[in-house]
Amino acid sequence: MKMVNYIIITGGVVSGLGKGITTASIGKILQLHGYSVTAMKIDPYINYDAGTLRPTEHGEVWVTEDGGEIDQDLGHYERFLDINIPKYHNITTGQVYSAVIEKERKGKYLGKTVQPIPHVTDEIKRRIRRPASESKVDFVLVEIGGTVGDYENVLFLEAVRQMKLEGDRVLYVHVTYVPVLESLGEAKTKPTQHSVKLLREIGIQPDFIITRSEKPLDNIRREKIAMFCNVHEEEVISDSNVDNIYAVTLMFEKQDLCKKILRKLNLRREHNDLEGWEKFISKISRLKNTVAIGIVGKYFDIGTSQLSDSYISVIEAVKHAAWNNNLKPVIRWIDSKVFEKDRSQLSSLDELDGVIVPGGFGLSGIDGKIETIRYCRENNIPYLGLCLGMQLAVVEFARNVCNMKGAHSTEVDKNTPFPVIDFIPEQVKILQDSRYGATMRLGAYPAVLKKNTLVYRLYGSEKVSERHRHRYEVNPEYVEKLEKCGLVFSGRSPDGVLMEFMELPGHPFFVGTQAHPEFKSRPLKPSPLFDGLIKAAKKKSL
Ligand code: GLN
Repeated sequence: MKMVNYIIITGGVVSGLGKGITTASIGKILQLHGYSVTAMKIDPYINYDAGTLRPTEHGEVWVTEDGGEIDQDLGHYERFLDINIPKYHNITTGQVYSAVIEKERKGKYLGKTVQPIPHVTDEIKRRIRRPASESKVDFVLVEIGGTVGDYENVLFLEAVRQMKLEGDRVLYVHVTYVPVLESLGEAKTKPTQHSVKLLREIGIQPDFIITRSEKPLDNIRREKIAMFCNVHEEEVISDSNVDNIYAVTLMFEKQDLCKKILRKLNLRREHNDLEGWEKFISKISRLKNTVAIGIVGKYFDIGTSQLSDSYISVIEAVKHAAWNNNLKPVIRWIDSKVFEKDRSQLSSLDELDGVIVPGGFGLSGIDGKIETIRYCRENNIPYLGLCLGMQLAVVEFARNVCNMKGAHSTEVDKNTPFPVIDFIPEQVKILQDSRYGATMRLGAYPAVLKKNTLVYRLYGSEKVSERHRHRYEVNPEYVEKLEKCGLVFSGRSPDGVLMEFMELPGHPFFVGTQAHPEFKSRPLKPSPLFDGLIKAAKKKSL
């Protein structure tokens, strides 16, 4: 029987090294050499899932087909590997402990003292082994969040240490950081040495050390790391900065990482499918013409460096669609609050080829977003509204075209005379009981598209499915009135009750969706709505 192989990815020195992309890239090269791969993410925090975390602190909340609200790294895995990953591929301390405590209460450990080792570590191992027991895969990549030396992840490290001892086929990959001291201009390996020392104290000897750095690692540092960390020189893999995250795969391939992994596991390369991927990366690097897309972000209060993390899937979806149209995407961040203070600034939107209002919660910057949408509608600027972006497009249309003064979403204004956006009925009780965790309308839901609409043409089919994450929706009572004024609901839930897509005929591109199509966009398969936006934006830029 073919046995599954585990690659455990740990991190050292600092967080935020892009371990998720490293993990996804290792998976991709294995996949391109003929192996089936899936990936898991361990998040050592006590939250049960990422649904209640603030995106500004933790990055975007990723939504799976089956409705999981998860760390953004699962998004990288899905995009790189072009597979759907279910929510149980994310393990948190919260989930592990609540399972152990539930078992204890049910008497499953009767008579025993329940302890971190073995009971918690057993629960962790059970969860790590689940994907391979449910579907046949050659490789399961397991990324452990945080850095070695944290209190939080020590039991997870202990669990993966035990796995090898228990006979699982396991390789350990440690991702570290090699900083360059500005005063010396010299790359320093000491933090890597210390981090591997910590890992070895736990009982894990890494098989590979991947060094993140600005510039490629030189041979002197490679030798040093190998010597001090007890690995061969060829097991030290340089992972320096690249312009395009999808090119990390090729950097690993150049260093024969895949071959080296397979050799350690006594496996052969099945075949080599790298050509298409290489062509894709080289095409991107040669693109000259640009397309400028504005994203109206809400999380400005914490500085722009965090923004790309909060909207990572939207950004990636823009990139995929732009590349598909042979364009280089230029993303501009728009702070909608600026327009609230000074409406004359709205004309700066003319410089953009297209505008996106992405999903969001809360009240901040809402009026500025509505003004942005109005400007795009009146000035023929291609517009794509995602979830909140569709809801506000409906609000704007109700107010300024249908003459419903003061129309709003009840999320923002409970006493609006025209509640064009209102609770999904099941949500009322949920919010009354303050049950905030995992209670939105989450995951993939089907919609039926109306023939002869733009959205139908873009998807090329009548039945579509996209992922969702919301509590509010277009109020069915206003659908007829809005449509009479010219707004077209181009897609609805199969029972016809929920408005899933909207568009404005006569406008070059004015489309909204209650869903988050960005979650299904893949590098070589852009999301149809993003592709439509870019095509319209390209026309505008000519
Ligand atoms: N806050 C809105 C809702 O709950 C929109 C959510 C979103 O944009 N994901 O419906």
